[in-house]
Amino acid sequence: MPDLEVPVLIVGGGGCGLTASVFLSDLGVDHLLVERRATTSTLPRAHYLNQRTMEVFRQHGLADDVYRISAPTANIGEVAWRTSLAGDGELDARDLHRMDAFGGGSTAEPYAAHSPCPSTNLPQHRLEPLLLEHVRGRAKRTPLFNHVMQDFTQDEDGVTAHVTDRSTGRTTTVRARYLLAADGGKGIGARLGVPMRGDGWAFDVISVHFSADLREWWSGDRVLITNFVSPDGGPVSRYGMVAMGPEWGRASREWALHFHVPPGADTTFDEHTAADTVRGLLKLPDLDVVVHQVGHYRPEAVIADRFRVGRVFLAGDAAHRQPPATGLGLNSAVQDAHNLAWKLAAVLDGQAGDALLDTYEAERLPTAQRNVEWAMFAFRNHAVIHAGLGLLPGQPPEVTRANFRDLLADTPMGETRRARAAEVFATQRVEYQAHDIEIGFAYAAGALVPDGSAAPPRDPWGYVHHPDARPGHRLPHAWLDLCGRRLSTHDLVGDRGGFVLITGDTDDVWAAAAARAAAACGVPVTAVTVSPGRHRDANGTWATARGGPRRGAVLVRPDNHVAWRGGSPGPGAADELTAALRRVLGRGE
Ligand SMILES: Cc1cc2nc3c(=O)[nH]c(=O)nc-3n(C[C@H](O)[C@H](O)[C@H](O)COP(=O)(O)OP(=O)(O)OC[C@H]3O[C@@H](n4cnc5c(N)ncnc54)[C@H](O)[C@@H]3O)c2cc1C
Repeated sequence: MPDLEVPVLIVGGGGCGLTASVFLSDLGVDHLLVERRATTSTLPRAHYLNQRTMEVFRQHGLADDVYRISAPTANIGEVAWRTSLAGDGELDARDLHRMDAFGGGSTAEPYAAHSPCPSTNLPQHRLEPLLLEHVRGRAKRTPLFNHVMQDFTQDEDGVTAHVTDRSTGRTTTVRARYLLAADGGKGIGARLGVPMRGDGWAFDVISVHFSADLREWWSGDRVLITNFVSPDGGPVSRYGMVAMGPEWGRASREWALHFHVPPGADTTFDEHTAADTVRGLLKLPDLDVVVHQVGHYRPEAVIADRFRVGRVFLAGDAAHRQPPATGLGLNSAVQDAHNLAWKLAAVLDGQAGDALLDTYEAERLPTAQRNVEWAMFAFRNHAVIHAGLGLLPGQPPEVTRANFRDLLADTPMGETRRARAAEVFATQRVEYQAHDIEIGFAYAAGALVPDGSAAPPRDPWGYVHHPDARPGHRLPHAWLDLCGRRLSTHDLVGDRGGFVLITGDTDDVWAAAAARAAAACGVPVTAVTVSPGRHRDANGTWATARGGPRRGAVLVRPDNHVAWRGGSPGPGAADELTAALRRVLGRGE
């Protein structure tokens, strides 16, 4: 006999598990979250929250709290490359390149046009406590921190897990209908025999989280990340630094410094040696540095063969792990949880068939594959910078310094070298201007009914985004005017589940069809008419993005992806919509 029965057991209280808990609570799904650690993450780790994640947070009432303490666009809109932060040598503190990023400067227009939510920056050690507050405020059951899931078995009806309270040693048997493995890849996938396939990185990355007053030296208030390429050579010749708040720009008090160490090099850093390393790299020998923590990891680009095994779902780092470039780790983890939560709710509610749960893997695995490949590509692309600066691998420090002198010289050839470097640096936009990678992903198969239309083109640089209301795509954002109140198409679907049918005219044929389909399938379907009288298409964006005729309709899922798109309604509109909804819900054609 189990000690406890619950519909969903979430193992792991990182970004994936915590957000899954919030989404499930909003959807009315009882669940239990268990987390091995006594507290949320104390390391900053992930910090960049992309627009899609912020849209999800907006939908679930988290965005305002995040924006209240995260960095505004004005403080994240630029990335810099320099030789060092400080120092008074001829090659010290020299600017090598600057790039607009994350919706700042020249990128502002497309980022603002395509989403109601700016991207932002909030390190994980500040985000997770905020998420936990929301978990505690919404979940029926208190999340169990300092509790570890020891083992589990599954059968046709559910999962039986043993959870041990680490402070008392007491073990509880939990019986759940479904288990969400949000354990960061720490064992559940392996226990299920699911291989992780992919690529590793030969270098270790050391991350030092520290406090210091760098107002005099930081690269400017707009700069979130400064990357350094040191003319001094040596084992640590390339490293990067990120502002971690709680104030932003130059005023940031906390920082994360990440550097690569080659295989075999000494990677044992205690607080004292880390502080000295920070001072040495920044060329600020007398800087007051308080080291909070030193992290050590080896980036990998790996993906699980399967995201669902019976009643267990792998999500976040348990399903895919990627290098930090482009910040797709935590963002994908949140988006996995968002994709799965409404499906679990619909199945547990009896609205959908088990086949709906298979669409989690069908949709998220190819998306994760693309993200993992992109992150590794962007990470490896750092290597071209050396070529752009005219540096050769293994050259002695005096040759490197001579190269930098030539590069920075006030001569016609210096100018030519800098022009070449600028072109090479521009390729780093795959990491810092990945607008289409972040919001342009679409599901080719899954909980959707394809309409036979051609997919929009995708920019190979991952930047130019083509919004499209084609089934499988993220619902295009358009501002609507509702009696003087501005809302996004994304606000039409709330946080409680249910579908929205966006129609394009004032007649009520589609509204009646929505009511019939809702009654037939037992799920809420709200019809919303975008017309000059109500929900006015404020700047014509929706008319372009929806595709199809003015009297067509777009069926939107609870996660703001398009499920189905229909043309002008004929006499069979209600049947057509009902059939589509049944198919989306995994209840047959
Ligand atoms: C230096 C660095 C920088 C990064 N930068 C970014 C970035 O800018 N943007 C971005 O999106 N991503 C970034 N990432 C990646 C990001 O941190 C991860 O992708 C993200 O934390 C994944 O969240 P998760 O919840 O899936 O896993 P985790 O955060 O690893 O959480 C898993 C949790 O499960 C718990 N757990 C494991 N096993 C058990 C068990 N048996 N019982 C109970 N609990 C268990 C663990 O204690 C852990 O707390 C970065 C990572 C690193 C290392």
